[in-house]
Amino acid sequence: MTEPDPIEALAAQLDELRRQLAVYTGETGHLRARLAEDSGQVVMLRLEIKQLGEKIAAAITRRAADEPQAPYWLGLSTEERAARLARLRAWVVQVGLVQYAEYFAKLPPCWPSHPAAVIELSTVMAEWVRVYADPDSRPLPDALVWNDKWLPGVLGRLAAAIKCDVSGCRLVQSSPWERSPPRYS
Ligand SMILES: [Zn+2]
Repeated sequence: MTEPDPIEALAAQLDELRRQLAVYTGETGHLRARLAEDSGQVVMLRLEIKQLGEKIAAAITRRAADEPQAPYWLGLSTEERAARLARLRAWVVQVGLVQYAEYFAKLPPCWPSHPAAVIELSTVMAEWVRVYADPDSRPLPDALVWNDKWLPGVLGRLAAAIKCDVSGCRLVQSSPWERSPPRYS
């Protein structure tokens, strides 16, 4: 079950107000004749529409600020990449290997050299942070999905794709991070 989208609800209200305004300022002759007596109502409707428009713009801005962005690793400077990798390593050590020790124990120690591991783990870390970081808001359904789906999904895919183990890394190619990012525009 999903909750109704607040922005869509506001947009529906806006449509309704615009419809009412169209009726009042209407295209037909008899409605125009009533316009003088209804002008107070028209002013109110125009004001409500303006306020609702501002409310929607504010809600969209809030949503954009609230929603965590997917980690993106291409085109980073060496320093930025090192800083992000340090945060990811810290999360793997402090959260993964502590709270999910049995799962994370299967991750080979060379995982930071594997782009797929870095991308997948940083993405699942971003979701973990979203779910758990705010002590006043830890949504239970999201935690259940994280435990049931995202974490085992990522670790299962990495275990299938990365065949390295403690005896050494089988990665042969040079670091793909040094290459130029693809152009998407
Ligand atoms: Zn490896």
